[in-house]
Amino acid sequence: MKTGNIIYFDHQATTPVEQSVLAAMMPYQSEYFGNPHSSDHQLGWISAKAVEDSVAQLASLIEADNDEIVFTSGATESNNAALLGLGRRAARGKRRRVLLGATEHKSVLAVGSVLQSQYGYSVEPVPVDRDGLVAPETLNDLMDNEVLVVSIMAVNNEIGTIQDIERISEIVRRFGAVYHCDATQAPMAIPMTNFGSCADLISLSSHKMYGPKGIGVMYVSRNVMNDIEPIIYGGEQQNGLRSGTTPAALCVGMSAAAALMTSDGISRNREELSRRRDQFVQRLQELSWPITLNGPEGQRRHPGNANVCIGEVSAHELLGSLQPRLAASTGSACTTGIPEPSHVLRALGLSRREAECSVRFSLGFQTSDRDVEEAVALISSAIAGLQGT
Ligand code: PMP
Repeated sequence: MKTGNIIYFDHQATTPVEQSVLAAMMPYQSEYFGNPHSSDHQLGWISAKAVEDSVAQLASLIEADNDEIVFTSGATESNNAALLGLGRRAARGKRRRVLLGATEHKSVLAVGSVLQSQYGYSVEPVPVDRDGLVAPETLNDLMDNEVLVVSIMAVNNEIGTIQDIERISEIVRRFGAVYHCDATQAPMAIPMTNFGSCADLISLSSHKMYGPKGIGVMYVSRNVMNDIEPIIYGGEQQNGLRSGTTPAALCVGMSAAAALMTSDGISRNREELSRRRDQFVQRLQELSWPITLNGPEGQRRHPGNANVCIGEVSAHELLGSLQPRLAASTGSACTTGIPEPSHVLRALGLSRREAECSVRFSLGFQTSDRDVEEAVALISSAIAGLQGT
């Protein structure tokens, strides 16, 4: 996929909005602009119906019920609303422990710090193995009846690790705790029909699945609905769980994107993506520098993710010298600017230096074989330039 002359290998940071998604949402920006909560006129009803249909589409992505879907501004808000909402409501309860995967996104880990410093919870990491996987026995050993919530993401944003959420859910529920799953990176990677039955709380973001930015979903299973204290108060929209005017056009966009992620050709698209990603990694490894893949191989990895450690080449310098031709990143875009090496790579056991020399390339459904070849050539000459060879 190219924008002008730029090869885009940063789909885990964000995806472009699909043309069909844009077309579906446009009428709700201009012609049908009514407030979906205006119940006294037809423009309001039209918007309300669009929101209702969008809810149904998103519910079907994870096989949930319509009233379990809450629109938010994105996965950062969903993670906050879920974990803080639960922690605040249970602040005086007996369950005082919160377990967070060691490779969670900052928007989960930062809420953990707040739960600890402001609400007195004991917030503990769930370690991962060298591939970023949570071992069921490790989780089981950490569990007891004082755990309030366990948050373990479905698909990692830096190394693409796909967790066994069914197994995790079984263990968490055996101890009567709540399972929150940050599934932001899952729609492109895997079918999600089992998610609604596995997790009690799920976070999703539209801009990681070819939808618009500024909208996400928090799934709240009916069995925990009364256990969530809202983090935004106001007009009591969305059952009081998230006040504020629901942005109909964005809801329509996110639901059109979800429809793409469940369309007939999606599993073939994922296979193609994974084949191209493998070809990309293989071509990189044929170059004359030591290049190793961080994270798992095969089925346990996001089909578009290639996180590689490139010998002694600093990731920041490499990415800098690839500008403006190739867009990729050092792990999570949200932490870019913070000089600390990735906490995800460190959790896998990589040294500080190895983490500093690692780049995340993330391919998308429109990435072509030609993009792969051009990217490899660009990377090869950038490394050669940096090493003075
Ligand atoms: N969780 C994960 C796993 C993510 O990859 C991201 C985006 N980097 C987020 C949460 C935050 O999503 P949003 O940009 O929608 O706030």
